[in-house]
Amino acid sequence: MSIFDRFLPKKKQPEVKNTIPQEKANIKKTFGVYCSKHHSTKGDKLCPKCTALLATVMTKINRCPYGITKPICDRCEQQCFGSSQNKEFMKIMSSVSKGMFLRHPMMSIKHKMASISVDYAKREQEKRLAEKNAAKKKNAEEKIKAKDEGKKSK
Ligand code: SF4
Ligand SMILES: [Zn+2]
Repeated sequence: MSIFDRFLPKKKQPEVKNTIPQEKANIKKTFGVYCSKHHSTKGDKLCPKCTALLATVMTKINRCPYGITKPICDRCEQQCFGSSQNKEFMKIMSSVSKGMFLRHPMMSIKHKMASISVDYAKREQEKRLAEKNAAKKKNAEEKIKAKDEGKKSK
């Protein structure tokens, strides 16, 4: 840090938006749509099985190790609800997208956008990792080549 830095305008850190309340609301609504369609419940009521799963999901979100930087749960690689509950959760989240769009269009669009941005970030991360590995490999090959050439010239 130079002495001039204190006179320069401070750079703003990018703000991390807390989207957890929005995600929780979306999950609750999705469970509602799914449960009324598949378990014949009415209004916002859920059957005991969906209630239990929703309670687990909400507790896990409250304790999510990623905090407010968390990805949305249905795009998370470390799904933490337990193997059978992860499967059930994914089934619910993916099977009512049409119903969600008809009943809660804005919420559904926002969730779709969040999914797209998580997928994009994952792809970019994988691309960067592949580039890094390719550069490492190339570097190692060049070193071996240079060593071999050095031996030959002796
Ligand atoms: S599934 Fe992933 S994002 Fe969701 S609460 Fe568990 S660790 Fe956090
Ligand atoms: Zn149900």
